[in-house]
Amino acid sequence: MTVIYKKVALIGLGLIAGSLAHAIRRAGLAEVISGYARSEETRDIAREIGLCDVVCDSAQDAVKDADLVILAVPVGAMAAVAKEIGPHLKAGATLSDVGSVKASVIKNVSPFVPENVHFIPAHPLAGTEHSGPRSGFAELFDHRWCILVPVENTDAAALANLCSFWEAVGSNVEVMDAQHHDLVLAVTSHAPHLIAYTMVGVADDLRRVTDKEVINFSAAGFRDFTRIAASDPTMWRDVFLNNKEATLEILGRFTEELFDLQRAIRSGDGDYLHDYFTRTRAIRRGIIEAGQDTDAPNFGRNLTKES
Ligand code: NAP
Repeated sequence: MTVIYKKVALIGLGLIAGSLAHAIRRAGLAEVISGYARSEETRDIAREIGLCDVVCDSAQDAVKDADLVILAVPVGAMAAVAKEIGPHLKAGATLSDVGSVKASVIKNVSPFVPENVHFIPAHPLAGTEHSGPRSGFAELFDHRWCILVPVENTDAAALANLCSFWEAVGSNVEVMDAQHHDLVLAVTSHAPHLIAYTMVGVADDLRRVTDKEVINFSAAGFRDFTRIAASDPTMWRDVFLNNKEATLEILGRFTEELFDLQRAIRSGDGDYLHDYFTRTRAIRRGIIEAGQDTDAPNFGRNLTKES
């Protein structure tokens, strides 16, 4: 147990901030955790469940004397929050975030960061489809990657401290530049979410398939899409509005490949389909070998209960 930052302030008290609060306590990384969320309802729940040591009624109060401040609000709300807290940040403090998009957060938050504050954006690649103050858990970041995206002239000691912090909450840490991060995430997360939203939307529109059939006969493929498509609408609206270019680039490629597969089905080109699916199966194996998912059938779900 080593305290890395005496006081950590969490702005936004949802899945990610809540999980951080639990993980910080698990590892004893701070003496005090303060928190703030926009609504009184969330602040009351956070107080009731003891999510932080102190839940403040303003972001300014929460960041007072904090050594590390983490913005854990939707990407579209980052600039407004940064503007509000900027003048109240302690000299020498580190300001970070957990936003799923990096270039736009850097562009929108940087103008409000005082010169004597270290701004080091970050993105933990860990999440669930749940949100809100009750959804967090200490293990969320265990063995998951956290990408740090230092801006120009980042202080080496401040970066090293933030690396140690993320490692101590369970993550593997990688450093990347913002543009590259946004492209990688467009491939691995943003485009797949949009595709899942679309597939579930299409099933919902298909009047020939009744609601009951969609629910009762939801085989693994569709059911897995529905889990992803249940993700928070505000968060995902902001992701697409803020990672426009990279998402559109990947969706363009996706559409081209989809047309190729469509053509192969229409023309009965079984070899093309077989080769394609062999290649994709290898990617799944790579993810399992990297320890990023379980090899258990059906993601380890209890089949007797679920089928
Ligand atoms: P969440 O569970 O919906 O929580 C968001 C929190 O932000 C809520 O406490 C909300 O307060 C607060 N908030 C919203 N607007 C605010 C504002 N203007 N001022 C102050 N607080 C505000 O969301 P989350 O999943 O933790 O996501 C937080 C961030 O993490 C997002 O930037 C997201 O892109 C990123 N992220 C998410 C995941 C994931 O899978 N969920 C993974 C990695 C990164 P109220 O409850 O009062 O509205």
